[in-house]
Amino acid sequence: VGESQRHEFQAETTQLLNIVAKTLYSEKEVFIREVISNASDALEKLQYQFMTGKDVAENELPLEIHIATDQEKGTLTVKDHGIGMTRDELLDNLGTIARSGSKAFLDELSEIGQGDAREKSIIGQFGVGFYSSFMVADRVDVYTRSFSPGSKGFMWTSDGSGSFEIAEAENVSRGTKVVMHLKEDYKNFSIKTTVEDTIKKYSNFVGFPIYLDGTCINTIQPLWMLDPKDISTEEHEEFYQFIGKTYDKPRYTLHYKTDAPLNIRSIFYIPETLPQLFTVQHMEHGVSLYSRKVLIQSKAHKVLPNWLRFVKGVVDSEDIPLNLSRELLQDSALINKLSDVLSARIVKFLQQQQKKDRVKYEKFFKDCGTFFREGIVSTNSDEMKQEIAKLLLFESSHEKAGVLSSLPVYTSRMKPTQKNIYYLCAPSREVAETSPYYEALKKDDVEVLFTYNEQDDITLHYLSKFEGKSIMAAENYFSVDREVKSAESVEETQADQSSDSLTEEEAKELVDWMSIILGKQKVSLVKVSKHLSQTSHPVMVTVADMVAAKHWLKVMRAE
Ligand code: ADP
Ligand code: MG
Repeated sequence: VGESQRHEFQAETTQLLNIVAKTLYSEKEVFIREVISNASDALEKLQYQFMTGKDVAENELPLEIHIATDQEKGTLTVKDHGIGMTRDELLDNLGTIARSGSKAFLDELSEIGQGDAREKSIIGQFGVGFYSSFMVADRVDVYTRSFSPGSKGFMWTSDGSGSFEIAEAENVSRGTKVVMHLKEDYKNFSIKTTVEDTIKKYSNFVGFPIYLDGTCINTIQPLWMLDPKDISTEEHEEFYQFIGKTYDKPRYTLHYKTDAPLNIRSIFYIPETLPQLFTVQHMEHGVSLYSRKVLIQSKAHKVLPNWLRFVKGVVDSEDIPLNLSRELLQDSALINKLSDVLSARIVKFLQQQQKKDRVKYEKFFKDCGTFFREGIVSTNSDEMKQEIAKLLLFESSHEKAGVLSSLPVYTSRMKPTQKNIYYLCAPSREVAETSPYYEALKKDDVEVLFTYNEQDDITLHYLSKFEGKSIMAAENYFSVDREVKSAESVEETQADQSSDSLTEEEAKELVDWMSIILGKQKVSLVKVSKHLSQTSHPVMVTVADMVAAKHWLKVMRAE
């Protein structure tokens, strides 16, 4: 093997610019987010200079972002009075693709042990965002002057095809002004309303005032970053209406902040009005994902499990690794973790609400219970199933009609001898109470939960256990549990000897006749049972797997 030589990769700048500008971002409109984020970073860095007592040129200039549209010229201009750039910085930061002056700034701070506080607010890190302006502009002019007193103003200009020019410029104030000359196809970004919508979508919560053609447009604060105690009900309502694009009020509000196991700043709202049942299946997710107050994904469908799609809100996490274009979430394990943490917190919150205001909760359960049922059926985690199960409410044989009981309440009332949890699915309370399946349980003084919709039936079937106790359909009590018992006790009780009962011979005749009439396809066995001698029902149908059977019947009926 000969001596090896080291080579640097060569980059075809024109190509690279093309990749960044044309293929990195899926939505053209995000260039506005990128340029505003840079302005915000520049203001953030200037604030740091103030804080550390540095001399700042033109220190009376406000820390604001000004955006101007000019439809006639077809331009969009974004101006800040932030830190600005010297000639060298211009060369470095805007002349090197994938070099981030912001990242370098943060690295410097963390070297001197000051990183943490600022780090939370600086948005840039990849050094490509600026070039997204070339998706929509065929020329970009940057006017800039550094904050350090005595600095000169410069103008940088490029058509994004591989080269740029820098010249000294007169009358440039501290900070940076980016003028984008829009391509023919993207002149709509010089229309005020288009720009306003885009800013509100992505950059509404940026930490500095944003003025569009002279009017401040980001008047709503990023509430999720504040201390929960500092937020009034009215502020929550306004914020909820803003993010939910709605006019109702939140019925529940959960403001959740934590630093472990992940950094999370979040607010969740449960709306007063929910979509009609038939649209529930196709309901969009209501939570948006932010990172450092900049929108990453609206209607983010991975941040909460599907069954929680009725929850609206905002989740901001610095720990979610973003890719270059910010739009894709890279680490799915981390997103899953985020989703687990958040859903556990929301479920716990709802459990607390059940205790806190029962009347309100029952109304909520009536409106949203179907989502919990979906949660139990769809979630893989047994632990989570158990937690969601605590949110369910049922009528019970122990209580009057209209009174609802939860599973924990049911189990607390179980006698030591009772092994299983029983429920009976029927069209109404009346039918349930006169059901032969119920009669047996009633006789043995075993509490039964009454459910009146088929969803409950499937849900409990999926849940299968609660607090370690099996959940059984009442039908099973008769066919399985009683059978076991009967071996010990029922046999001993003398069959009713009254005159209207059948003789053994008559009974055999009846059984034979019924077996023939019904046939093997309908029943597997007809037999005389002594169990019924204790109830008021002459005949009963039992099925090994009642839930499956009922479903099968339903499917057949639908066909
Ligand atoms: P990033 O923001 O990820 O660092 P960008 O491509 O958006 O990457 O910007 C590159 C660099 O250019 C920034 O890190 C910053 O140093 C500099 N820059 C861009 N816009 C401004 C501005 N408005 N004021 C000062 N510096 C800026
Ligand atoms: Mg940037």
